[in-house]
This record gives sequence, structure tokens and C-alpha cells, in this order.
Amino acid sequence: METTPSIPEPKTLVEAVRYFADAERTHDLAVKLRWPNGVHCPACGVVGEVRYFVATSKNRKTGKETPRRLFECKARKADGKLCKRQFTVKTGSIFEDSALPLDVWFVAIWAVANCKNGISSYELARATGVSQKSAWFMLHRIRVAMDAGGLTTKFGGIVESDESYVGGKAENMHAKKRKERITGSAANDKTPVMGLLQRGDGTVHSRVHARVIRDANKKNIQAMVRANVEPGSTLFTDSLLSYRGLSADYFHAFVNHSVEYVRGHVHSNGIENFWSLLKRSIKGTYVSVDPHHLQAYVGEQVFRFNERKDDDRGRFLSVLGAVSGKRLTWKDLTNHDLSAAY
Ligand SMILES: [Zn+2]
Repeated sequence: METTPSIPEPKTLVEAVRYFADAERTHDLAVKLRWPNGVHCPACGVVGEVRYFVATSKNRKTGKETPRRLFECKARKADGKLCKRQFTVKTGSIFEDSALPLDVWFVAIWAVANCKNGISSYELARATGVSQKSAWFMLHRIRVAMDAGGLTTKFGGIVESDESYVGGKAENMHAKKRKERITGSAANDKTPVMGLLQRGDGTVHSRVHARVIRDANKKNIQAMVRANVEPGSTLFTDSLLSYRGLSADYFHAFVNHSVEYVRGHVHSNGIENFWSLLKRSIKGTYVSVDPHHLQAYVGEQVFRFNERKDDDRGRFLSVLGAVSGKRLTWKDLTNHDLSAAY
């Protein structure tokens, strides 16, 4: 069994570009990370029975030749015939159907996993030479890998719960959506996000789980708490109303923000710190975010927050460890109806 390869740590985007420029090395790394126990055939599922070869594909317009690194399955199927399926390290992952080389992908993953405030598609396009549109699509696919979705283990101990409203600028939206937004009230211009923070102790650091919700009403807030926090946990919030009715299952304590912000260890400063990081990242790097895409940016920030004690290489490997079995097509990303987005 192979171990996780040790790679030197690029410290900057430029260093990452240089490091991953070696296509062979980048491909080897991708294969080792994707299939640590041997190359896995997506057709028959047999592991390690493949032939590796490099084919060349020629661009008809430019005449430019690019190597294509391929695997062909040598396993025998139940009927005795050879499987012969050809595939690449990109097959069945967020990289599938992407014409962009892995080195560009790896630079993008490195940047988005490690830049404190994320990286914009414009910055990434400048650094790698791909179009801004390609960079934007690539970043969204990476966010799909970063967003763990639901919690695998419910939060427990002391959990802070809070909602925040994240706004987008109307001028950057399509005309139809702009109309919907502008005719609504000012509060409707912002999208509610619900966040839970499990406090850390001496050995474990605090962790966040956050989701965009359609409406920050009592029903949605309580549903999110019940789905993600172990009964019997202590819940710290800043208001009483939305949480009324949970005290049968949780020890609920709150501070009234119109009077005080902190009462001993009863406060929600941890989750509020997360909101300020999220808002800083969106404002500083992305300028504004379409509500349809907000969960992707929230997931990206949650990933960096929860992985903050790791180093750059660790965060990079952790995103790469989550690329399999996830897809995001251009159609999924762009063909949407705002009403279904929250
Ligand atoms: Zn096969």
C-alpha cells in the first residue's frame, strides 16, 4: 500500500504554478491520491489491473499536440471477455470532461484551499492563463469537493447557534433576478445563512457547520439545530424567540444583544467571528455573490475554517481527497431558477 506522497510546500500562488507545471509529476500525484490502493476501473470496478499509456491528441486548428494520459482495464469480465475500458484520472471526479490540464486544476485547488479569503476567477485566470469563464467554472467545481454537505457526526458539548444575512449587489445580477430583488424589501436583498459552531476544548478546535436557508424562521432554525446538534448539548444563542421549544432537548442559554453581548461563557462570539470571516472574503475577493451560488462560498469558508489548524499541504490534500464521485456540469451551475436556490 502506498503512502500519501510527500510534496514540498509551495508558499505562494506563483510557486504552486511552478511546482505543478511538471505534468508527469502532477499526474502521478493525482493517481496516488485518487486511488491509493491501485487504479480503480470505473466500468468493472477491478483494482490495479490496468495498462497505462500516453496518447497524443492534436488540435485541428492549431496543430498543437497534447499528451493524454490514459488507463485501459485489462481485467476479464464474467463472460470471459476483456473489460478494455479506457479512462483517465479525471473520470468520475470533479475534473471529468474538463479540457484544462491537471496542473491548472492543482494550482486552483492549492489557491482556493489556502488563500485566507479565497481567490477570484479573475486572479486565477491571470495566474494560469485560462479564461475567466473557465476559471470561474473550475472554482465552482472545486467548491463542490470542498463542501462536505451534512455533518457526519452531530455537534455536541457547547454549540453556538446564529443566523446571518449575506447580501449581493443588485447590479451584478441578471435583469430578471434584479427585478425580483428590487421589488422586494431591503431585507429581501440579503440571503439568510444559519450557522452552528461547536466549541473547542484543550484538544479539539472549534468547528462550524453553516447552510444557506430559505427563510430564517423558527421552523427552519429549529430543524437545523435538531438535525445537527446532539440532544443534551448546551446551546448558546443571542435571542430567545426562534429557539423557544428546544429546551426540552437542549440546555439553552442566551444573551440579549440589546442589553449585553457576553455573560460569562454564554456568548456567540465564535460563530460571529466566522460570519465576519465569511463577509470579509465575499466582499474583498468576490465583491458580490449571486444567492444561487452563496452556499458554495459558505462551504468554501467552512472548509478553510474547519481545516485552519492544518498546513497548506494538508488542506490541499484534503480537497483532493474529496474530488471523486462528485460532478458539477456547466448546466447545473448556470441554468437555475432563483426561487429554487435557497
Ligand atoms: Zn474494467
